[in-house]
Amino acid sequence: MRYVTLAALVAALAVMSAAPVGAQTRVIHAERVITDPAAAPMGRTTITETDGKIVSIEPGWNAGPAGAEVIELPGKTVMPGLIDTHVHLGFDPGGDWWRDAIDTDEWTAMVNVKNAKKTVEAGFTTVRDVGNDPRASAALVRATREGWFEAPRVLWAGMPLSPIGGHADVHGFRPEVMAVLDKHNANTCTGAVECAALVRRTVREGADWIKIMATGGVLSQGDKSLGQAFTDEEMKSIVDTARSLGVHVAAHAHADQGVRAATLAGVDTIEHGTFISPETARIMKTHGTVLVPTLLAFKGVGEGLGKGIYTPAVEAKIRMTLGHLGEGCRNARAAGVTIAFGTDSGVTAHGRNAEEFGLMEDNCGMSAKEALATATTTAAKVLGMDQQIGKLAPGYSADMVAVDGDPLKDARILQKVEWVMARGQVID
Ligand SMILES: [Zn+2]
Repeated sequence: MRYVTLAALVAALAVMSAAPVGAQTRVIHAERVITDPAAAPMGRTTITETDGKIVSIEPGWNAGPAGAEVIELPGKTVMPGLIDTHVHLGFDPGGDWWRDAIDTDEWTAMVNVKNAKKTVEAGFTTVRDVGNDPRASAALVRATREGWFEAPRVLWAGMPLSPIGGHADVHGFRPEVMAVLDKHNANTCTGAVECAALVRRTVREGADWIKIMATGGVLSQGDKSLGQAFTDEEMKSIVDTARSLGVHVAAHAHADQGVRAATLAGVDTIEHGTFISPETARIMKTHGTVLVPTLLAFKGVGEGLGKGIYTPAVEAKIRMTLGHLGEGCRNARAAGVTIAFGTDSGVTAHGRNAEEFGLMEDNCGMSAKEALATATTTAAKVLGMDQQIGKLAPGYSADMVAVDGDPLKDARILQKVEWVMARGQVID
């Protein structure tokens, strides 16, 4: 087995070294170009790309430099590749929580590859994975950087930090089984000192972000409430330690009190924010805390109600949140809180990500233009990458999608992208 793997690797390296070295230039002829949702769209435009970066954006169609490959996209609108700041590439939808005891890290790596491909085919050229097996994530990130297969750029948070018995702690098994899984996951902490140590270990594993479970969660069997789970002191320790290591913090939080505590502790993003009150929204605005509403997750779990997918305890929590769909998002928007695009894909099937746009319009009151900004310029800024992605401009990564129609008028059309380029690679 090992011999076969090595032989395949040697063969792959031989093919790679036989390929011509040097700049490959592509010229894209688009009917319409949105360089940034806030800017006026351009008409017929030529975008020139070399080695994964945009070189120029010029009005009209020109042939570009000699030898350049021309990609014709007549009738199409080209815009920046989409960014999803909340995915879980390592898992698929369903209520089968017991898979925790069955699936290996190697299997999760395979699931990562499958879902990364689906995600980029849907037009999402950058994602932040906020909960995945760290070893499987590190392997995925390394392979995608090498360009071994079609995938988005991936930032990752590893295993979410959880209080014992909290949303991301192991649950639902007999104690001996839980003891083994708990040792493998090693993602719980109690008190400021333990939590600081866990942040340091997570960053040592290579995580780009720290994800914490600030409150209980909907899909977990163990936690009975959606209220604040980590103490104020624990959250403060996590955030301060992450800051000292140059890493940002994302907090899963449903209950208003948990959102407020995480905000006051200084987290960068609130994930879900289901019950954010107008008052807490104002505090988020003051602190510059970003909301990632993940409305698609609520729609997704709602679709599974009454089908025997979820346990009665989980069904009860789903019903409790569904009546409040979009409430936290609307309160945040009204207070001027920055909202970034995120879907919680994994809870819903990967590749459905763009359904979030319609939910942002219907349930959070956004215009198409506003919704588009959440998945481009705003998301790029939240990820600290606004000089590289989220816009089409010279020097930016050649991440773009083409659609029929005008996504500034109807963002739902992004559910059907016609063409995708990720870091200069055309996706099949
Ligand atoms: Zn999630």
